[in-house]
This record gives sequence, structure tokens and C-alpha cells, in this order.
Amino acid sequence: MSSQPTVIITGASSGVGLWAAKALATRGWLVIMACRDLIKAQAAADDVGIPAGSRRIMHIDLGSQASVRGFADEFHGLGLPLDALLLNAAVYLPRATQPLRSPEGYEISVATNYFGHFLLAHLLIGDLQAAKGRLASPPRLITLGTVTANSEEFGGKIPIPAPADLGDLAGLAAGFQAPIAMIDGKAFKPGKAYKDSKLACMIMNREFHKRWGGSGVVFNTLYPGCVADTPLFRHAPKAFQTIFPWFQKNITKGYVSQPLAGDRAAQVVADPAFASQSGVHWSWGNRQKEGRQPFAQPLSARGTNEARNERLWDLTMQAVGLAG
Ligand code: NAP
Repeated sequence: MSSQPTVIITGASSGVGLWAAKALATRGWLVIMACRDLIKAQAAADDVGIPAGSRRIMHIDLGSQASVRGFADEFHGLGLPLDALLLNAAVYLPRATQPLRSPEGYEISVATNYFGHFLLAHLLIGDLQAAKGRLASPPRLITLGTVTANSEEFGGKIPIPAPADLGDLAGLAAGFQAPIAMIDGKAFKPGKAYKDSKLACMIMNREFHKRWGGSGVVFNTLYPGCVADTPLFRHAPKAFQTIFPWFQKNITKGYVSQPLAGDRAAQVVADPAFASQSGVHWSWGNRQKEGRQPFAQPLSARGTNEARNERLWDLTMQAVGLAG
């Protein structure tokens, strides 16, 4: 088996994932770029200079559970080790007037950002455990969180359209099929569906840590800063796409470039300093300054209610077909 460190990065065809792929390839890792558009991913990898020998591009559509399972099978067929899994892909559809649905009938941003990653992590956790002892630092499962899903922080308190809040999980408990489109079962708000999906991802890593923390795998999330000019915002109004980066650069000072955000994700994946703790959410804060040091940011009460988090885990197991 290859001794080269190997990472899978979901959504590596642009933004944070692409630049994390570049940063990890530069550190000597083999990067499996798990993307839904292979031609776009290849062009992007060439564009930022990820050498062909340091990358492998594989198809996944995280919104489709069949595709996620197919990806895991294909990866297992390669016989490669897995030292890290970076769960990065996301869709943000703030102007959707009606919920779009995954092949399984779930609202698409929760299906893609959360269910797809939850399923993928379960299908690959055994590979991460098997990689224990291969490298000097432990294998890692790292997930992109965000400030707007953490009401502990100012960005998480913004009421437009509403802060992330999974409520009593009534929508998920009722099967999460049409007409239900929100985890809390309340009225569809597309921007909140994105925030909820990210909050659920952050909870997922905490639960993984609780359940598998003793297995030698490190489970962390991160907020790399506000990368206000990535294609994530392509479905937002055009004026927002112009004003938001300017506002973040000049007013809040929260702006982080795509290469820096990608490098921060790569640090959390690969650098020994980030393996000293598991079950934490790494942040560099909201006001960016040269040389700013990372710190473990507490999650809000909406992410730390243990009974609700466990119920979320159980209901998600059912939603992705993993419940016994
Ligand atoms: P981005 O450039 O739009 O990247 C998102 C990636 O996800 C793209 O490669 C996209 O592929 C992929 N993707 C979307 N749907 C997919 C699907 N169904 N199957 C497979 N891949 C899919 O956005 P980004 O800003 O870099 O976001 C990356 C992560 O950082 C997200 O988790 C986001 O929540 C998080 N984050 C971003 C910011 C920010 O300010 N931008 C801040 C905090 C956290 P396509 O190219 O095919 O669309």
C-alpha cells in the first residue's frame, strides 16, 4: 500500500476545496478530488497548478445517496489508504422559491451538504480507522462549518432569513419528504436551510467524536473566515455578489482569500498542531489580521444540546438508510 498521505476532498472543483487540494498537494499528499463535474474539476486543478501525479478526480454527487455509495465502492476498489477526509462541498440556494428535491425526495441543500456527507463519512470511517499509525499524526475527519450556523458568534445571530435552528427536529422525524423541507418542520426558508445544514454538519462531527473519539481518528470542524468571493454565492442576487466581498474586505475585515482559506483547511487536515484536540471547531476569528492564531471556538447552545444531537444522529441514520 502506498506510503503517500492520501486525502479525499469533496467539492474540490472551486473555492475552499480547490485551494485546499492545492495546499495539500504542495505538502506531498495525494488528493482525491471528489466532484460532480469532472471536466470542470480537471480544468480547475490545471488552472491552479495541482500536478497530475498528485491528484485523482472522481465523480460524486452528494445530493444522491446512490452516487455517494457508488463513490465509496469505487474508492474501495482502488485499494488506497485514507489518511484524511475533508467534507467541504456545499450548495447555497438563497433565492429558491420552492424546495428542490434530491432523488430520495429530500430538500436539496440539507441532502447535499449534510446527508451526503453523513453517509460518506460512515462509509469511509473504517478506512480512516485503518490508517491509524500510518503517519506521524492521526487520521482525521474534517468538516467545513460556518459562522452563520453558530449563534455564539455575531454572524450567527443575523436574522435574515433566520438564524440556524433545528428546533425539535419535527421535519426530520416526520420523514423529511414533501411538503416538508426544513429540519424543524417549519415553513421553507432557503437561506436558513443552508445554515441548518451547516449546523447539522458541525453537530455530526461532535457526535462522531463522542462515538469514535477513542478510535484514533480526530474529528474537527473549521471556519476558515469569510471567503466572500467564491462561487458559493453564485445564486445570490448580483448586487449582493458585488457588495458582500467589498463589505467583508472594508467594513467587517472578515474577508479571507480563497488560497488562504484553502490553506487553513489544509492545516486542519495535515498539520500536527491541529491533531492535539478532537471534537473542536477551529476558527481564526472574524476580524482577519496578519499572523492571527487559530483557536477552538465554542458552539452555541443550538449545537450542544446532547439529547437533541443524539436524536439528530439517529434520525439521520434513518434518512440515509443506515439504521439497522
Ligand atoms: P464553492 O466554491 O461553491 O465550492 C463548493 C463546492 O461544492 C464546489 O466544488 C461544488 O461543485 C461542490 N458541490 C456542490 N454541490 C455538490 C454536489 N451535489 N455533489 C458534489 N459536489 C458538489 O464554495 P466555497 O465557498 O468554497 O464553499 C466550500 C465550503 O466552505 C462549504 O462547505 C461552505 O459552507 C464553507 N464555507 C464557505 C465560506 C465562504 O465564505 N465562502 C465561509 C465558511 C464556510 P460545482 O463546482 O460542481 O458546483
